[in-house]
Amino acid sequence: MSQTEVSMMKPPLVPLATLIGRELRGEKVEKPFVKYGQAALAKKGEDYFLIKPDCQRIPGNASTSFSVFAIFDGHNGISAAIFAKENLLTNVLSAIPQGASRDEWLQALPRALVAGFVKTDIEFQQKGTYCETSGTTVTFVVIDGWTVTVASVGDSRCILDTQGGVVSLLTVDHRLEENVEERERVTASGGEVGRLNVFGGNEVGPLRCWPGGLCLSRSIGDTDVGEFIVPVPHVKQVKLSNAGGRLVIASDGIWDALSSDMAAQSCRGLPAELAAKLVVKEALRSRGLKDDTTCLVVDIIPSDHPAPPITPRKKHNMLSSLLFGKKALNSTNKASNKLSAVGVVEELFEEGSAVLAERLGKEFPLNTSSGLFKCAVCQVDQPAGDGLSVNSGPFFSPASKPWEGPFLCTNCRRKKDAMEGKRPSCPTVAT
Ligand SMILES: [Zn+2]
Repeated sequence: MSQTEVSMMKPPLVPLATLIGRELRGEKVEKPFVKYGQAALAKKGEDYFLIKPDCQRIPGNASTSFSVFAIFDGHNGISAAIFAKENLLTNVLSAIPQGASRDEWLQALPRALVAGFVKTDIEFQQKGTYCETSGTTVTFVVIDGWTVTVASVGDSRCILDTQGGVVSLLTVDHRLEENVEERERVTASGGEVGRLNVFGGNEVGPLRCWPGGLCLSRSIGDTDVGEFIVPVPHVKQVKLSNAGGRLVIASDGIWDALSSDMAAQSCRGLPAELAAKLVVKEALRSRGLKDDTTCLVVDIIPSDHPAPPITPRKKHNMLSSLLFGKKALNSTNKASNKLSAVGVVEELFEEGSAVLAERLGKEFPLNTSSGLFKCAVCQVDQPAGDGLSVNSGPFFSPASKPWEGPFLCTNCRRKKDAMEGKRPSCPTVAT
């Protein structure tokens, strides 16, 4: 497809030549190779994955390529996992302003991931005419050049193994058992957290949220559980050095058997396809097939080194001077979460709040040609009178002013209130 055809099909706000010029100037260092492998063993058949190595920010322009890798670990059925797999990427991309430069696109991505996750959850809720009980974890990874952005709900994980031999966790486990902050949030929003009571009052199993009995505090789907089980993802964005690194993305079937370090070490120096198989094999060896077990291994490697990184196992350099400066928000205190990657990883963004007002910014974007406002979640245009700003209405906190953005349409506003426990959770069904 020629550039002329592309610009005629979808004229961007900025001339295409300008955009391409920006792309070329921005890519001083050559783009890395992205090599990947996948392996899985099913017990219940509720794990799904997505591999899209050839997406483009500007359709038809290969220099704007990026890749997406995701795992969806379903529970109580497969509908939510399949729905998220089919719709989430489109919903995320629709929340990024058209005509953005590469830098603007990467900066807009964390917010777009939040909007896309919530929109997908609302659409799933509305699509069924009956109460849909299935839900899914999502670990969603976008790789653009050396920049890796990970959004996650639930307890699937993404780890990063870098050349220094240091393993870091790019996700947070949304398990009620392990996440105190999430327990407090769910309780404050009207949920009850406790264990299953059987045999005359004996408590068994992990902490769960009632009603529903889910042991996760965030997911997509689960419309029969309280809406304080939210689809708002933890998002982390890092930039690798041009030495590259390896991502291991996997469902809890792996992580219940292997620590992050064990998973990384079990496959170091092997090509991605073989590495994924080996991680699954290692998890099975130690625990047997108790759950669906899915693993994606993604190598981000310098383009002048077509072979996978052969990283000898080194002792961690305790004197590494360029550690991450930012504190991890809403994170668990696992040893593997020490983001001390010997100066090879730059942390660009991390936010895990479940509160939409803290995740979507304060802009109140007006479409000047139509006089309509755009909903920050579903991107639908609506006149201001029909929608409400996140902080308006009877529930705004005293610290925030009413009518501060972002603008939410009536439907998304209803969802936001339900997630914060300000409305009885009651699935809205499309009419
Ligand atoms: Zn909306």
